[in-house]
Amino acid sequence: MLPAGSELLPITMIRLGARPADKAAAIAEAAQMLVAAGYVDAGYAQSMARREAVANTFLGSGVAIPHGLGEDRHMVRKNGLAIVQIPDGVTWNEDQTAHLVVAIAAQSDTHITVLRRLTRLLQDSELLARLATTDDAALIAQALGSDEPAEAAPAQAATDFASSFDWTVDYPTGLHARPASAWVETARRFAAPMRVRNGNAAADPKNLIALLQLGLRAGEQVTISAEGADAEAALAALRATITSLSAQEKADAALAASRAKQAARPGWTPPGALSSISGAAAAPGLAIGRLHVISATTETIEDRPIPLVDGAALLQEALTHTRQQLQALADDTARRLGATDAGIFKAQAELLGDTDLITQTCQLMVEGHGVAWAWHATIERVAEQLAGVGNPVLAARAADLRDVGRRVLGHIDPALKARSLRDLPDEPCILVAVDLSPSDTAGLDPSRVIGIATAQGGPTSHTAILARTLGVPALVGGGAALFDLTGGTLAILDGQAGRLYLQPDEADLASARTFEAARAAERAREEEARALPARTTDGTEISIGANINLPDQAAFALAQGAEGVGLMRTEFLFLERSATPSEDEQYAIYRAMSQALGGRQLIVRALDIGGDKQVAHLDLPHEENPFLGVRGARLLLRRPDLLEPQLRALYRAAKDGAEILIMFPMITSLGELLALRQISERIREELDAPIVPLGIMIEVPAAAIQAESLARHADFFSIGTNDLTQYTLAIDRQNPQLAPEVDSLHPAVLRLIKATVDGARVHGRWVGVCGGIAGEPFGAALLAGLGCSELSMTPREVPGVKARLRASSMADLKALAEKALACESGEDVRALDGDRP
Ligand code: PEP
Ligand code: MG
Repeated sequence: MLPAGSELLPITMIRLGARPADKAAAIAEAAQMLVAAGYVDAGYAQSMARREAVANTFLGSGVAIPHGLGEDRHMVRKNGLAIVQIPDGVTWNEDQTAHLVVAIAAQSDTHITVLRRLTRLLQDSELLARLATTDDAALIAQALGSDEPAEAAPAQAATDFASSFDWTVDYPTGLHARPASAWVETARRFAAPMRVRNGNAAADPKNLIALLQLGLRAGEQVTISAEGADAEAALAALRATITSLSAQEKADAALAASRAKQAARPGWTPPGALSSISGAAAAPGLAIGRLHVISATTETIEDRPIPLVDGAALLQEALTHTRQQLQALADDTARRLGATDAGIFKAQAELLGDTDLITQTCQLMVEGHGVAWAWHATIERVAEQLAGVGNPVLAARAADLRDVGRRVLGHIDPALKARSLRDLPDEPCILVAVDLSPSDTAGLDPSRVIGIATAQGGPTSHTAILARTLGVPALVGGGAALFDLTGGTLAILDGQAGRLYLQPDEADLASARTFEAARAAERAREEEARALPARTTDGTEISIGANINLPDQAAFALAQGAEGVGLMRTEFLFLERSATPSEDEQYAIYRAMSQALGGRQLIVRALDIGGDKQVAHLDLPHEENPFLGVRGARLLLRRPDLLEPQLRALYRAAKDGAEILIMFPMITSLGELLALRQISERIREELDAPIVPLGIMIEVPAAAIQAESLARHADFFSIGTNDLTQYTLAIDRQNPQLAPEVDSLHPAVLRLIKATVDGARVHGRWVGVCGGIAGEPFGAALLAGLGCSELSMTPREVPGVKARLRASSMADLKALAEKALACESGEDVRALDGDRP
C-alpha cells in the first residue's frame, strides 16, 4: 500500500517552469530527479527511455507518465514521483503536448495506485490547466497526493475526519449494492471529503466498490466522518439516507425469510438407492431431464492494444450501451417478474457507474493493454477482492459484477458476447454450469431449461432469487463434482432438497413424475384460483388485500388476485425521501393509488413512525427503547404537523371518490382512539368530505384485551401480527438471534387474536389481519377459522392463500382454530398443518 500523499510526493520532487528541449530531455530531467533523490538506481533513466519505444505514456489532457519497464522494477528503491512542470509544453507525440511530466517510481502493485491518482486528475481539466502554469508547487503536490487508495484497508489505523457520527449497521443483510449505491449518490452531492470507517478499514463513501469492499455486516459499528466547508450538511444528508433505508432493508429481509420458511417443505425421496450430488437448495421443484453441461473453461481475452484515444471511445460507448441494455432489462423484468427482481439490474447499472472500474481500466490501457483485456482484468481483480472478503453477501455481488462486466465485454467485442446459453438442446434440459449470471437466468426460457445446477453461488445470490421467481428448480454450490458429469445424462433435480440424482431407473422416474405431477397440479390450481374469490367450500368469503405502498405496485397486486389494498404503509412515503411530503403531494399519491386500484378498497395506515422506522428528517429525539417509545398513534397525537396534513390529504382524496379507509397504528388505549377520531372528524367537517371508516390496528396486547371497548368507537380492526407477536412474546422483531422464536402462531398470540375477534363481534365490527402470518397459507387458514374476515399480504402470497382457503370449509377452519387455541406451543400449532381441513 502506498503511503499517504505527502510522503509519496515530497514538494522537493516538483520542478516548476522547466523548458526541456524535447520529450527525451523532459524524461531525462524527471528521471534525474528520481535518481538524485535516491528513489531509483541510475539505470532507471534508460529503462524509462526504453518504455517510450514500446508504449505511449501520454495519459491525456497534457499529462505524461514516463516510467520504467516492468522487468526493471528491481531498480526502484522506494515509491515516489518526480514532476516536471512545463508551462510552454513539450511535444510528446504528434498532436500531443505535455505540460506535466510525472515520472513514476513504483514497485509492483503500487504502480496502479499512482496511475489511478493521475487518471482521476485527468477528469478535472480546469485544475489541470492551473497546474500547468502555477508557480505554487504545493498546489501540484496537493492535487496529486489528495486521493487515498480506496481498494482496501490502510495498513495503519484509519483515522476519521473532524466531524463524524457513529452508526451500527442495521441492514439485516449488511451493506449490499442497492443501499450502498444510495449512499454514494448522496455523498457525491457534496464537496467534503468523507470517510466510512469500520475498525481499521476505511472507504470513501463516494466510491461504490470501495464501500462494498468494507463488507459491512449487520451489527457492525461504523464511524462516518467528513471535513471541509459543507461537512456538516454532507453528514446530515448521508445520515438521513443511511437510516431511511433501514426500514426497507428490514422489510426485504423479512420477506425473504418468510419465503424461505414457506419453501422449507421436504423434497422428493427416491424409491431406490441413487447416486447424487448435493448443493444448496435454491429454488424448489423437481425437474426430470437430460443434463446440458456448460464447460468450465474460463474465457481467455486476447490482449489487443489499440490507440488510447480510440480505446477510450470504445470503452465509453460500450458502457453507454450496457447501461441502456440494463435499463431495458430492468423494465422487462419488472413487467414479467416484478419490481424487486428488476432492482437487481438497477443495482448492476450502479456498479457500472463506479469510477474506479473505469479508471483502473484506463490505467491498464495507458500501460499498453487492449480495451477488452483491460476491462476484463479490472473486473476480475475487483470481483476477486469482493469474493475474498469471506462475506456471502459480497460473494454474490462478485457474481453481479462479473455479469455486468461480461455484458460490457460483449459491446467492446461482439465475439465476446456471453456464450453460456447458446446451443441449448431442443428438448428441455437441466443446465449444469460453474455459475450462471443473473442476466442469463432472467433471460432463461423455463420451457427449455427446466432445472439449474451450479457449482458455485449461494442461495442468496441474485441467480437463485431469479430462479425462484421463474419457478425453475435450482441447486447452487454443487461443487466441482458437477464438472465430471456428461452432457445428455438423464437426471432428476430436486430444488427443494438441493440434490441432483443421476441415472434414475424406471421406478425412480415414475415416482418422481408422480411427485412432480402432484405439485404441478397444485400450482396450476393455485394459478387458476387466484382470480376467484377466497370463498370456502361452505360459502364464507374472506376478503384478500395486498400490502403495497406505491401506486405503481397496484397492477401487479391485482394481477396476483388481490381485491384491494389492506395495508398501505404511508411511512414509506416519508422514509424514501429527505423531506416530509406535503399535503398536496400526499393527496396526489392517495388519489393515484385509488385510481390504480380501479376504485377498489384502499386501507391507508396513518404514519407509523418510531420503533424500527426512523425518519432522519423528522429529527425525533433519541429513545433508549424505541419499540416502547413514542411510536405510531403516540407520535401522531404529539405531532399535529404530521397528522393533520395527512388526514386532510386522505379526506380530500375521499372527497374525489376514492374508496378510502383510514387506519391508526399502535393504539394502546381508548383515549388515543377517541382523540384521533375527534381530530379526523374536525378535519372532515372542515373539508366537507364524506364519512370514511376509521379503524385501528391491534398490535399491542392491551388493545387486544380491551377490544370490546375499542370496538365501540372503531369501525374496523386490522391486526398487526408482527408487532402483536413482538409485544406478546417480548421478543424484539429485529433481533436476528431470536428470529426463530418470533412465531405469530404461538398460542398466546392466537388467543389475543381470538379476544380481538370476540370484542369486535359485540359491536358488529369486522377484523382483518395485515401482519406477515396472513400471507402464509396455513396462518391464513387459522386466522379465517378464528373469525378474521379480511387478510392482507404481499402480492406474491395471494394465490397460495386463496387456494388454501378455497379448499377448506369454514366449519373445518373453525375446528382447526379451536385445536390451535388449545395447543401449548407454536410448534404444536404448526404440527396441525398436517391435518388439512
Ligand atoms: C404489523 O405490525 O403486523 C404490521 C402490519 O405493521 P408493521 O409491520 O408495519 O409494523
Ligand atoms: Mg406494526
